[in-house]
Amino acid sequence: MTQAQAAMNLLSDRINNMQESATIKMAKMSRELKAQGKDIIDLSLGEPDFDTPQHIKDAAKQAIDKGYTKYTPVPGYPELRKAIAEKFKRENNLDYTIDQIVVSTGAKQSIANVVLALINPGDEVLLPAPYWVSYAAIAELAEGKCVEIPTTIDSNFKVTSAQLEAHITPKTKLIIFSSPCNPTGSVYSKEELAAIAGVVKKHPNVFVLCDEIYEYINFTGHRHTSLAEFTEVKEQVITVNGFSKGFAMTGWRLGYIGAPKWIATACDKMQGQFTSGTCSIAQKAGEAALLSSIEPSLKMVAEFKKRRDIVYALLKEIPGLKVNLPDGAFYFFFDVSSYFGKSFNGKAMNTPEDISLFLLAEGNIGLVSGEAFGDKYCLRMSYATSEEKLREACRRMKEAFTKLQ
Ligand code: PMP
Ligand code: GLU
Repeated sequence: MTQAQAAMNLLSDRINNMQESATIKMAKMSRELKAQGKDIIDLSLGEPDFDTPQHIKDAAKQAIDKGYTKYTPVPGYPELRKAIAEKFKRENNLDYTIDQIVVSTGAKQSIANVVLALINPGDEVLLPAPYWVSYAAIAELAEGKCVEIPTTIDSNFKVTSAQLEAHITPKTKLIIFSSPCNPTGSVYSKEELAAIAGVVKKHPNVFVLCDEIYEYINFTGHRHTSLAEFTEVKEQVITVNGFSKGFAMTGWRLGYIGAPKWIATACDKMQGQFTSGTCSIAQKAGEAALLSSIEPSLKMVAEFKKRRDIVYALLKEIPGLKVNLPDGAFYFFFDVSSYFGKSFNGKAMNTPEDISLFLLAEGNIGLVSGEAFGDKYCLRMSYATSEEKLREACRRMKEAFTKLQ
């Protein structure tokens, strides 16, 4: 018995059955190859390459000097929750009172709190696919049954209200989706969300977790729409947001929910046993982010849009790829299935994972395979990196694909 097998026998079924996060796994592989001296361009992790704006960093430094160094209230400092409530009102036209807001150690923890608070074993969790990797892992941890609703690039990876309705059963408890979407970059329009609200309203025991962490990174020219704005479903919606993407604050670990009070109270209780209130310094930084101009965020968004347009043109030049123009976030999710059945050095390419491993080994580019997002045909590319690296990555990819026969 190997050491790894021995460890598996000792570990819980819960952890043995859990998939490792594919985004984090691919980033780790790329990092290891870089450490061995390989010139890898890592486009696997969805993380802004920009630094946190200076005024936010300054607020954190002041927080330390002012003694914000103690345990914080479990759902977050009241002044931060007030700033979040004001942000919800100002930017999203949403009325949440402070006791409907829970601040967490990242949107990831916010999602885990909600899912663990709502899902009983066997409850169905609907996941419009492709979906962000951790939704399924967290739902399975809660012993929920994930039900995927498949979409393809031809519909810009969006589900229709009719598709959604067809998947709702008496066991459905929760629907989880993101708009702008990770991994596809798709953005649901106000009309599409209105139709979805119409279906949700008919099922008062079904809840929807709307992950709006990419809210600012939206190139449609239209104001972001939250599902909770449709008042007829507000009591069924949990709005998740955070600071990682919009304010380039991934390492600060700060996310939050706005939710019906009974769900917020349950998340507070959950967090009180798991992690307690998140970092005091990060919270003061987050408060400063919300109370000051979002101009620095808008500059980052303009840069992402420029890169999106450059990468779109370059990807379109690569034979065999099916690419759509994403409306938000900072990912391309393109279809590589025309290469299935081709080989390199005797190794056949049958899945996106085969192709991502081939591109890592032969092209020195780190991309994430679609399988982890519930898709069998695509690869995800993060374009949150410099224009120079993006151009080189596309050149390498084009060259690598010519080696597949
Ligand atoms: N939701 C989505 C769709 C994401 O892409 C991410 C990024 N990791 C998260 C949630 C989690 O964000 P955070 O860094 O706030 O935990
Ligand atoms: N959200 C990012 C991604 O999808 C960060 C990695 C993670 O937290 O999974 O790549």
